[in-house]
Amino acid sequence: MRQREPAICLRTSDYSETSQVVAFLTRGTGVVRLIAKGTKRAKSKSGGALDLLAEGELIFTPSRSGGLGVLVEFTETVTRREIRRDAARLNASLYLIELAGAMLAVDDPHPEVFDLLHNALQRLGEPASPVLAVVAYFLWRLLRHVGLLGELDRCVSCRQPTAGHRGKLWFSSSAGGVLCEQCASGNGERMALDGRTTAALAALSAAESGRKVSLPDAQARRVADMLNYHAAHQLGRPLRTASSVLGRR
Ligand SMILES: [Zn+2]
Repeated sequence: MRQREPAICLRTSDYSETSQVVAFLTRGTGVVRLIAKGTKRAKSKSGGALDLLAEGELIFTPSRSGGLGVLVEFTETVTRREIRRDAARLNASLYLIELAGAMLAVDDPHPEVFDLLHNALQRLGEPASPVLAVVAYFLWRLLRHVGLLGELDRCVSCRQPTAGHRGKLWFSSSAGGVLCEQCASGNGERMALDGRTTAALAALSAAESGRKVSLPDAQARRVADMLNYHAAHQLGRPLRTASSVLGRR
């Protein structure tokens, strides 16, 4: 039974001389892993084999038992040419698709994450958009959506609001949020937060409640760093493309 869905290409790898295995994020089925037999069928508008970040209409036969499905046809409708011209935007985009592919299980539908990724990539394609702020917002919404983030404006343990807190603040991946100085003592896995990070967290919370906020680069980098730390801790491994966006830790 064939399915037809909007899809974004997350990963490709060679399977044989003429076939690739391609992971897509589809809107209705979530991440699917498909075998693309013969590069012809998987060709994108740019003429080569299927490109990462390509977005379009995917026709495929789903896998039956958790194995590979079969790619029938992919028609690229969004070329992302602007992103490919700019290294910072390209690196950020590759990071976002690595994250989406890593955080979502195969065949588990998350239409909101598809829309979130689509919107983030569209934003990164606009020459004046703030790259790090787009990355920070994406991370924040993705982690929230998959249930890995609680409220970030208060200590997850004692519920004390972080605004106006006088001591140090920490983020703990295993606790799933911010800890105040008192609650953090004795918690081994943690990352110190500075004023820029907490300012960014407050701005992101305001953005979620519908207020328009702009996140300066330095704040966006700090909070993206923190959320990347959280994602890597939850995955049990670093994200391969993170350092090209956030620098080395
Ligand atoms: Zn506390």
